[in-house]
Amino acid sequence: MKVSNAEIVISAVSQKQYPGDQLPEVALAGRSNVGKSSFINKLIHRKNLARTSSKPGKTQTLNFYKINEAFYFVDVPGYGYAKVSKKERKKWGSMMEEYFETRDTLKAVLLITDIRHEPTKDDVQMYAFLKHFDLPVIVIATKLDKVPKGKHAKHLKRTKETLQVDPEDTVIPFSTETGQGKDESWSAIRSYINN
Ligand code: GDP
Repeated sequence: MKVSNAEIVISAVSQKQYPGDQLPEVALAGRSNVGKSSFINKLIHRKNLARTSSKPGKTQTLNFYKINEAFYFVDVPGYGYAKVSKKERKKWGSMMEEYFETRDTLKAVLLITDIRHEPTKDDVQMYAFLKHFDLPVIVIATKLDKVPKGKHAKHLKRTKETLQVDPEDTVIPFSTETGQGKDESWSAIRSYINN
């Protein structure tokens, strides 16, 4: 997809701030530092559009990016920071629940994982959480360039098995370095937003 326009519309902390124009949207979730901003920037050919801090102490927001006036990418705050307080974790959980449970225009969620490693407990929980809301999930197993070619299939299989990926969901090996998986990601996204 050729992205001619991409702009942040709002950083929301609650439902009343979500955009009301009924455009379809696709959310992006992933562990902090997994490569979520790199993924979105690669897809939309921007160097630094998604530069949101998910560090503890910073306000955690849902960032709505309007793409080509046609749909939204919604960047959700990263998870898995060990140092986050119980209170912050709870706040994050309520914000996620409010969003995933009520957002009718949400068509699918891109869950970014690191293909080098077995998905973490947090990744497994996040996937299960999304399936609990019956959301289609596209798993993006990124940093593929860091795995030797001969091991790609094995790592991909491990990602699918550990997350217990639903047969209806797609898992796409991806690399910002080589661009592998980019076209496949767009096809998957397109199939959900055009529905
Ligand atoms: P975020 O916190 O999830 O948004 O993570 P970033 O997008 O900031 O990426 C974290 C680090 O991983 C950065 O140093 C990126 O350059 C690196 N990174 C992200 N994707 C890839 C990839 O596909 N291949 C390689 N080699 N590095 C990547």
